[in-house]
Amino acid sequence: MRIGIMGGTFDPIHYGHLNSAEEIAEVFKMDRVIFIPAFIPPHKKKEKVTDGYHRLMMTMLATLSNPRFTVSTIEIERDGYSYTIDTVNELRNSFNKGSAKNKFYFIVGVDAFKEIFTWKDSVRLLKNCDFIVTTRPGYKVDDLFNVLNDAAAKKYRNVKFKIDRKNPFGKSPRLYIIGSKHFIYPVETTALDISSTDIRRRVKSGMTVKYLLPEFVEEYINKNRLYK
Ligand code: ATP
Ligand code: MG
Repeated sequence: MRIGIMGGTFDPIHYGHLNSAEEIAEVFKMDRVIFIPAFIPPHKKKEKVTDGYHRLMMTMLATLSNPRFTVSTIEIERDGYSYTIDTVNELRNSFNKGSAKNKFYFIVGVDAFKEIFTWKDSVRLLKNCDFIVTTRPGYKVDDLFNVLNDAAAKKYRNVKFKIDRKNPFGKSPRLYIIGSKHFIYPVETTALDISSTDIRRRVKSGMTVKYLLPEFVEEYINKNRLYK
């Protein structure tokens, strides 16, 4: 199976997340995309994050009608900070039992991905699984290439990225760390300028959030008086 992993805070999940996951699943012919709400995202330590139970419920409601979307509770159940390396290892162990051959692609927005070297065991992670980096129109592969190489050079002597122009999944080149079998695939998805931060702000001030997120999620927010 080809499996996409979509991590996030999902506070709340919205059409930006859902649309980019769907478009990627199509391009990469994925059998499944697993949405994984983080228990405590390491980069959001100081911010107030809604209870994991509510974020999980909203993610469930939002993904229900899509046959290839599923939700995993591994980060919420693990407790504590949610590190991608632990999640990828756990998923691989649980899915790759027996003779099953599964390929995992971690999906992340380009802005979050640029901070990859602040993530736990980032180099090991990059050498351990493929990444799909969602970008906006106008993005240039050279920009990401330069950002990654500059960030790597500050921390590691022998981590260097290369561009591979032969990409089986599209016209855009892919990147890899020299010596690694895994790739970073930048993919342009339809830009929906929606953010959870903006939705929370809108709910708080009584503004409409219709058409920014699934109706059931909106109802769940209202019913549980979230973000008020
Ligand atoms: P917040 O405003 O609270 O930071 P968010 O809208 O950025 O929330 P997250 O849960 O932080 O949502 O994001 C999870 C993942 O989805 C990240 O990889 C992020 O880059 C990506 N993402 C967020 N918003 C969009 C969007 N509008 N379109 C495509 N991808 C998105
Ligand atoms: Mg964000």
